[in-house]
Amino acid sequence: MLVKRRKTKEIKVGNVKLGGNNPIRVQSMCSTKTKDIDATIKQIHSLEETGCELIRIAVPDIESVKKIKKIKQQINIPLIADVHYNYKLALESLKQGVDKIRINPGNIPEDELKLIVKEAKDADKPIRIGINIGSLPKNITQKLGFTSEAMFKAALDTVDTFENLDFRNIVVSLKSSDIFQTIEANRLFSEKSDYPLHLGITEAGTIKSGIAKSSIGLGYLLIKGIGDTIRVSLTADPTEEVLTAYNILKSLNLRKGATVISCPTCGRAEIDVINIAEEIEKRLIKIEKPIKVGVLGCFVNVEEAKMADVGIAGAEKYGIIFKKGKIIRKVEKENLIEEILKEIY
Ligand code: SF4
Repeated sequence: MLVKRRKTKEIKVGNVKLGGNNPIRVQSMCSTKTKDIDATIKQIHSLEETGCELIRIAVPDIESVKKIKKIKQQINIPLIADVHYNYKLALESLKQGVDKIRINPGNIPEDELKLIVKEAKDADKPIRIGINIGSLPKNITQKLGFTSEAMFKAALDTVDTFENLDFRNIVVSLKSSDIFQTIEANRLFSEKSDYPLHLGITEAGTIKSGIAKSSIGLGYLLIKGIGDTIRVSLTADPTEEVLTAYNILKSLNLRKGATVISCPTCGRAEIDVINIAEEIEKRLIKIEKPIKVGVLGCFVNVEEAKMADVGIAGAEKYGIIFKKGKIIRKVEKENLIEEILKEIY
């Protein structure tokens, strides 16, 4: 089954387009201190390797902003500056050549937001209006409380402010750590506006609970055709966010690529299914070939093997490479990963 996606405006962030007919983009955020330029670039390279298509960095002070140019010179994906409270950091980030700004209208007054919009317009750079349940404008929460309706209203009001300045280079996000609030706020917004939506469940939690919450929340919205770019927020290494994002999108046929079908293992397993399956999944995350790769502890059930296009299985003294349930060759167990990759690439 194919999801029918909501029609949205196309926005260009550096050399990556999102919204419109473009694939749902995968993004993440660095967990390093931006002023630690070596650590930040190293982390971005590792995220690029995993398939991250847009990367956000925190710019809490002018020292961090001053690193933008150097970071940009050494990375290959668009760089987004995450700005809170101080509009001057946004203005300077744009001057330093950042590809997009993420602002939170709950913590920057409207007259200062207008200055950011003017600078972004001159620089032809998009802005993400990042609405968060925890930091909504006071005038809205006084009337509507901390609700999905308040999030929706905050987003619409900021969009209005931007449009009145003739600025439409906009991406919007409406995030809460509550799945139902996030779903409702995004649903309300998507009915009213065709600006592209960045989806995320904020502060989703540790790797296990965060993956569960994001899969349910983002999965529901994506099935409804809502969402143009996603970030899976996890209290974990950001590469895990990217891997999870691709797994969510591939599960819904929203991104093409390899999927690993691995058995749950049991007392018959002749290989380390858990580690081998994880390693193969990581190594295949960027390929766009729609292929199912099986990882089976043994070759006892040929029907299981037939579900995969290609795969590996364990046997007592060797490893097996199979295609559509038929053994094509036997290899040393320690070479199984490299040998199956040869069949795929
Ligand atoms: S494929 Fe083999 S090892 Fe894996 S669950 Fe089935 S019987 Fe057990």
